[in-house]
Amino acid sequence: MKQYPRTLALLYIIGPVLVIFTHLGALIPLFTGLSLSAIIWAVFLYMMRMMGITAIYHRLIIHKSYQAPAIVKWVGSFIAASAGQMGPNWWKGHHIHGHHNNSDQPDDSHSPHTPFTGFKGFLWSQFGWLFSSHFFPPLLPADVEADPVLKIIDRLHFVPLILLGVISYWIGGMEFFGAFCLSTTVLFHCVAFVNSLAHIFGDQPFVSGDNSRNNWFVAILTFGEGWHNLHHTFQWSARHGFSVKEGKVVYLIDPTYQFIRLLEKLKLSSDLRIPSETAILQATPGFSKSTQVTTDALSSSTMLSK
Ligand SMILES: [Zn+2]
Ligand SMILES: [Zn+2]
Repeated sequence: MKQYPRTLALLYIIGPVLVIFTHLGALIPLFTGLSLSAIIWAVFLYMMRMMGITAIYHRLIIHKSYQAPAIVKWVGSFIAASAGQMGPNWWKGHHIHGHHNNSDQPDDSHSPHTPFTGFKGFLWSQFGWLFSSHFFPPLLPADVEADPVLKIIDRLHFVPLILLGVISYWIGGMEFFGAFCLSTTVLFHCVAFVNSLAHIFGDQPFVSGDNSRNNWFVAILTFGEGWHNLHHTFQWSARHGFSVKEGKVVYLIDPTYQFIRLLEKLKLSSDLRIPSETAILQATPGFSKSTQVTTDALSSSTMLSK
């Protein structure tokens, strides 16, 4: 494991501490109740921050599945950080070097299959790993570290979350603060379902070499991230919503991809990378010469999105 300077380690550890605090804060609505306006606030915060994590952290900064101006990365990362799930550098360090490069292998940061299995493995991948030495990423990615704004957001990852908590209290007192904590807690677990449930339950239309699954339940909660078997197979794809049925490509609902397309219309994203149907079919277990696809399609698999 990489050794982190004491100051950086302390700044990072604030993350799991705030996870505990927001979980406790999620109990506040039991005492204050939740008005319709507070529920709408909680849902709005959930949607805004989930999209920040999926469209900006995951598909843009981590996997570079499309291009975007720096301002989109910065504002999007600020919003994503307000989810209380750490900054972009920590996220990428874990996601690429801790997860994708070792998926469901002993060095995976948060696999439900190792070092534990069964229900214990689920709990480990859902949150247990955050409270272990696995919490520190194997390394920090050089490209994100080179962006001074992203680096500041990463080191001060807790500021956007605290700011949002203060704004919530300012708008509607303890009731809205409780709605903020509840939204943050639900968001935490729904993102974590990608690590846990989407590596346990669901179908595997593609050969990804690990236990990643396409899980519709997780896909709905996470705006398309639950199509995780496709993602592990085509990590660079801006669209995760693909499956294959009876030899044909099926297009699945993927709100994150639709959001990226919206950004494209607003000239805020470009160069979306999408696998061709040929490449998608070639990635299935049943692929054979009889499917009449060429073997070079996997390497020439980007095309403009439909
Ligand atoms: Zn995964
Ligand atoms: Zn990924």
